[in-house]
Amino acid sequence: MEMVNVIEKKINIGISACMYGAKVRYNKKGWDMLGYLGREVADFIWHPICPEVMSGMGVPRNPISLRGGSGDDFWAGKAKVKSRTGKDVGDLMTSGCNCCMDTLKRAGVYIYIFMEGSPSCGVYRTTLKNQRLGHPPGVFGSLLLKEEFFLIPAQDLQSPVKWWDWRRRLQAFIWLKELNIDSKDSLYSMWHTLKFLCQEIDEVNSRALGNEIANLSKGDNTEMYALIKNRVLLMLRQPSSLNKIKQSLWKNYSFLKKHKELRVEDVLEPTELRNMHHIAEELLKIERSAYEYGTFFGSAPIAYKPSR
Ligand code: SF4
Repeated sequence: MEMVNVIEKKINIGISACMYGAKVRYNKKGWDMLGYLGREVADFIWHPICPEVMSGMGVPRNPISLRGGSGDDFWAGKAKVKSRTGKDVGDLMTSGCNCCMDTLKRAGVYIYIFMEGSPSCGVYRTTLKNQRLGHPPGVFGSLLLKEEFFLIPAQDLQSPVKWWDWRRRLQAFIWLKELNIDSKDSLYSMWHTLKFLCQEIDEVNSRALGNEIANLSKGDNTEMYALIKNRVLLMLRQPSSLNKIKQSLWKNYSFLKKHKELRVEDVLEPTELRNMHHIAEELLKIERSAYEYGTFFGSAPIAYKPSR
């Protein structure tokens, strides 16, 4: 039986409270995005936070917006955050954001599900209206990026395939984040475990990294180990695409069938048409079967079996 790396303790995930079902938006709205995950919700420990509420602005409140720049500019003192009535709420937001970041750090959280389009929690958009792009990232989004969080847009929880992609990468991210790489052997073993997933996400950078790892000089490489670990962590934060997921699903499955004699019902040929739900089911079935056979599955290299 091969060794399969398994995370057994529950993973902690931060989430914008309004996406956790708390009605904390300025207009008293909130959505339960975790409802899309079904029974899987019980596999994680959730940390809902709301930077605007923790700033002391309450619910309901005047909506706020960034003026004169992005969240990054705000922290550099070059942009302001104002309410609709024109009141400067920059000091309040600074306290609210710092308080939320302290909470996440205290709990050892590196993963965060954010509400896209918010001037606070937004990462790639800071407004929901008129398709305008606003000034991303938002004020709290800027801190999340600076602290190199693994960031998941809440709307992706609605798609089973996208969630599968986020989950397998976040498992790999947590495993690597907590891995001690202090020798060439431990570096090689890490790369052997994660390279298939990295190649699927970013083939060019993965090939380059693989060559660098193979050609490491003799002697003390401690600093290099840390740099390489960080590059892999950054790579794992990037989403794959449906096409790449499908290709790698079939490649991995063919390998498992041929070399491990692993057969999984209802996995269709790549050319056969099927909907997103069917693809998500195929992915889950192969992932589970590989784990039960004790066989390594390159597309989802780190298994997650928390006790409920
Ligand atoms: S997006 Fe963030 S700041 Fe706005 S209501 Fe949701 S949790 Fe609060």
